[in-house]
Amino acid sequence: MKVAVIGGGIAGLCAAVALERIGVDAEIFERSSSIQEIGAGLSLWPNATFALQELGLLEPCERAGSRVHRIGLRDPGGREWASVESSGHATPALCLDRPALLSVLLAAVDPERIHVSHGCESVSLEAEGSRKPRVHLEDGRTLEFDAVIGADGMGSVVRRFVTGRVERPVYRGYLIWRGVADVLPAAYAAGDITEAWGKGERFGIMPIGDGKVCWYATRNQPDTASPQGKAEILERFGGWHAPIAEVVAATRESAIVRTPALDRPTTWRWARGRVVLIGDAAHPMTPNLGQGTCQAVEDALALSRLLAGRGSIESAFRRFEKLRRARVAAIVIGARWTGRFAQSEGRATRLARNRLPHVLLSKAIERSFRAIHDYRPGS
Ligand SMILES: Cc1cc2nc3c(=O)[nH]c(=O)nc-3n(C[C@H](O)[C@H](O)[C@H](O)COP(=O)(O)OP(=O)(O)OC[C@H]3O[C@@H](n4cnc5c(N)ncnc54)[C@H](O)[C@@H]3O)c2cc1C
Repeated sequence: MKVAVIGGGIAGLCAAVALERIGVDAEIFERSSSIQEIGAGLSLWPNATFALQELGLLEPCERAGSRVHRIGLRDPGGREWASVESSGHATPALCLDRPALLSVLLAAVDPERIHVSHGCESVSLEAEGSRKPRVHLEDGRTLEFDAVIGADGMGSVVRRFVTGRVERPVYRGYLIWRGVADVLPAAYAAGDITEAWGKGERFGIMPIGDGKVCWYATRNQPDTASPQGKAEILERFGGWHAPIAEVVAATRESAIVRTPALDRPTTWRWARGRVVLIGDAAHPMTPNLGQGTCQAVEDALALSRLLAGRGSIESAFRRFEKLRRARVAAIVIGARWTGRFAQSEGRATRLARNRLPHVLLSKAIERSFRAIHDYRPGS
């Protein structure tokens, strides 16, 4: 089987590894001149680490990252109003630097199969009724494959072929700053993640291994144009609980990345004939549940299992769409509503956090996490 994977991000590389495990060699076409990721942390929850274990990638991910044992939700002064234990699952929760995850994936893929500076312009069928998809590259060449996997992210061109539409992502009203600092305060060394909620603002810290923490800050803003950098972040969050000021101060200005919170309603169509979408190409989501990459890893494992079974490529892709879309749509909506609640500037949300007992809030959050984290693709 000759398969093209469009996009060499985490979804595309995971798909290539998963296909290689079932004896299918895939060619990866990446638009950029190198395979790269921004320096920022990433959480991989037990649903994703289970999938990584099945792909034989859990050990190197554990070596590259840091285990998470506990998530503490706080107010800006540091009072904890809820907490969730994240150990006790069959596989661990991990945080790691995005380039470190990319290195683990790259080590598992034959470099000969990765074609950088090979952007895909569009996908088509040779003629109506033909089954084999064709990939039109930005350099003018056209290549034919038995199947195409669109892993080309939020602005996917493969998605245009699958859904027949060009859909813009929707801005959800807040910006996110991320940075990596070379400091590791004691609690974080022991595997804590903390997230503090203010009025339309949040600040999170997580350990990512190698003596580093990743932090993120969010802020409500009607538009996405904002020049703020380190000084502004220190001014806004420097008075919040320790060690927020310390980790921001220890971050290089050039290493701070700003992203708008975006997602898109999940479409019901993920596959057309022998062309299928995975990762952000299929289901971009806001980062509030830390599930974007986790779902891409689940996608890769589920797709490879279905392709390894009996039946045609088309039926495997149809079953993939059926298997994945309800779960992922629920997570996209869950992430959006979590963001809406967490970014709320209203009194009701703050009263709920301040008045409801720690144990009640913790149990409610733990229950919703379990439904996501205990999932096993294909089970
Ligand atoms: C602030 C923030 C924090 C996040 N934190 C987490 C977290 O903690 N845990 C988690 O699980 N997820 C998290 N996510 C989500 C996660 O980053 C994404 O879901 C994930 O990176 C998607 O991977 P992907 O490979 O599908 O897409 P991408 O990473 O966008 O990769 C797409 C690739 O395709 C290439 N490409 C694009 N167009 C073409 C083309 N036409 N031809 C060829 N190549 C092309 C691109 O260059 C890129 O390399 C976060 C996201 C944000 C914004």
